[in-house]
Amino acid sequence: MAMDAEARPMIKRFNLSWKGPLNPRLPMMLYVGKHKKSVINLITSGECSRFMVDHIGTQPAVLSTHLAIDTLSPDIIINPGTAGGFIKANASVGDVYLGHPQVCYHDRRINLPGFKEYGIGHYPTYQSDIIAEKMNLKTGVVTSGSSLDYTPHDLEIMSSYDGIVKDMEAASVAWVAQLYNIPFIAIKAITDLIDGNSPTEEEFLKNLRLASEMLCEKTFQLVDYLTTGE
Ligand code: SAH
Repeated sequence: MAMDAEARPMIKRFNLSWKGPLNPRLPMMLYVGKHKKSVINLITSGECSRFMVDHIGTQPAVLSTHLAIDTLSPDIIINPGTAGGFIKANASVGDVYLGHPQVCYHDRRINLPGFKEYGIGHYPTYQSDIIAEKMNLKTGVVTSGSSLDYTPHDLEIMSSYDGIVKDMEAASVAWVAQLYNIPFIAIKAITDLIDGNSPTEEEFLKNLRLASEMLCEKTFQLVDYLTTGE
């Protein structure tokens, strides 16, 4: 997970204990617990000691996913987080989506033969349509980039693959998961509406707490489903 505020309700809900940095030289933090027969490792990207903010974004997400796989050998990787949604896709603040059938990047424009699609990424997600139906969640393509805002070109790229859930990490986590052949699920709660009238920053901060609570409850159900098959 990218932000500490997103992870707090989850750490409480799963009753996880803080284990310190996943690697003593890096900022990523590890929290560990059990749910039925599964071991739950929650990793946050940690805080940037220079700018005193959470390490959000695509680069820390790659590093923490690699570190997590190398250290913990997980059977499945889940990336819970908050995201922007679209009114045109019927999203409301607090909605929870599973990324399906893929997660992509919308700001890696490489107009060279073969590299265009490589830039977009098209990383597959694991059984998210089946799970979303069972859990009564929305589904959609999650689209990641390195900015909270967007350019007209970003929007064009997003709509080329029906990207309707905009975040800053999912595609990076999915890329590393795919390299290692580990099933990947993105679960995202909507904090802001991209095609609405309020500025994203204001909406995000206003709704972060509510969305994180929704995210926590649905992620708990998701883990329960993955653990018990019910
Ligand atoms: N100013 C905020 C920073 C939030 S950045 C703060 O300091 O509290 C946004 C984080 O939430 C990222 O981790 C991203 O994955 C997610 N996110 C929520 N809404 C988003 C949107 N509209 N576009 C991109 N990412 C979004």
